[in-house]
Amino acid sequence: MKAILDHVGIAVSDLPASLAFFRDELGLHVEASEEIVSQKVRAHFLSTGTSSLELLEATAPDSPIAKYLDKRGPGIHHVALRVEDLEAALAHLKARGIRLIDDRPRPGAEGSMVAFIHPSAAHGVLVELKQPAPAVPLFTTVGRHTLGSLELLSLSDGFFWLDGGAMFGVVPRPLWEKRLPPDDANRIPLGMRPLIVRDGRTTLLIDAGCGDKMDAKSAQIYKLDRRYHLDHSLAEAGLSADDIDVVLASHLHFDHVGGFTKFGPDGKVVPRFPKAKYVAHRAEWEDATHPHERNRASYLQENFVPLMDAGVMTLVDDEAEIMPGVRFRRSGGHTRHHQVVMIASSGRTAVFTADMYPTSVHAPDAWLMGYDLYPMDTLAFKRAFAREAITGEYLIFFEHDPSMAAGYLREKDVKRSVERVI
Ligand SMILES: [Zn+2]
Ligand SMILES: [Zn+2]
Repeated sequence: MKAILDHVGIAVSDLPASLAFFRDELGLHVEASEEIVSQKVRAHFLSTGTSSLELLEATAPDSPIAKYLDKRGPGIHHVALRVEDLEAALAHLKARGIRLIDDRPRPGAEGSMVAFIHPSAAHGVLVELKQPAPAVPLFTTVGRHTLGSLELLSLSDGFFWLDGGAMFGVVPRPLWEKRLPPDDANRIPLGMRPLIVRDGRTTLLIDAGCGDKMDAKSAQIYKLDRRYHLDHSLAEAGLSADDIDVVLASHLHFDHVGGFTKFGPDGKVVPRFPKAKYVAHRAEWEDATHPHERNRASYLQENFVPLMDAGVMTLVDDEAEIMPGVRFRRSGGHTRHHQVVMIASSGRTAVFTADMYPTSVHAPDAWLMGYDLYPMDTLAFKRAFAREAITGEYLIFFEHDPSMAAGYLREKDVKRSVERVI
């Protein structure tokens, strides 16, 4: 069980005097105060960096804090430890015969879930276990959109977490952390959202998430969460792997093409979509199969080389038409030959932007990922593309957004925003 100090609860009898000391003498910042009606207490949080002090004030004579003060006077009341999975932590403690006050999670402050361990089991300390509220809602539902005569289906291959600083390059954390709050390891949640494009004849899949070949160590580093993955998503859309005719790669990074292959019954890596033709950009293929120190960790050969060996991989060049209305458009920037996919029908345009706009939070031109190999190329592409997308009302797909699949880029008084559609 991994636990991090969340806060220390302190019972106070004279709040103004306590605040005068902690806030005015020690200089701590009062973050929030909240009344917990069921417990008859008011809690004031003072920040101490990654954890905080919680001053607890009774709001009624029969409050547990009032009783505590009567018995012991003011002082340290409890220690709260933050855990990722409270249910699992309680199950672990129960199995070891540890005496608990709450054997099930109950609602705590700010949308968290909490449970207390009995002081007799914790060497005289009242211990609170706390699972913080999910910072952003993770959205997996299949998103359907009709674009002229084409049907678009936004799917999900689950979530992974990457360093927030790396995802926003030179943008300082105070600017992005409110939109995508990081976990204790500074990671932010990211979706993997492949897109289906269908006309009456062809079912095209663009990208396929990271798939199920990732080793346990990497899965832990990336906090991989595939409880709901592409097979579930295809089934929810009324499809199966057999229905896919063409599989297209925006670029060959593992979080986009890991799901192109799978382990066969004998442990050999085989195509995941048995009836599909696979398509990638020729020069991207060259770079992916000749990686250097800076991109080697992203280009995992087992994700694409077996497709060439199986004779199902086709390489194409810039602007290649993939199916009627669907074509590659070179962006570069993220990788030298990174492609976005332009989808057009009946005068309407949708764009699968892959790692050009990984999330809707990356809407401003200069909000670039630290992962980009050629960031000035990304900037040049975004500047020109954004103008076009705003005037042309392009529907933009955000492959890595944790809670939004697609939306329209808007601009008001030079401020960029996204109007959610899916
Ligand atoms: Zn990438
Ligand atoms: Zn990516």
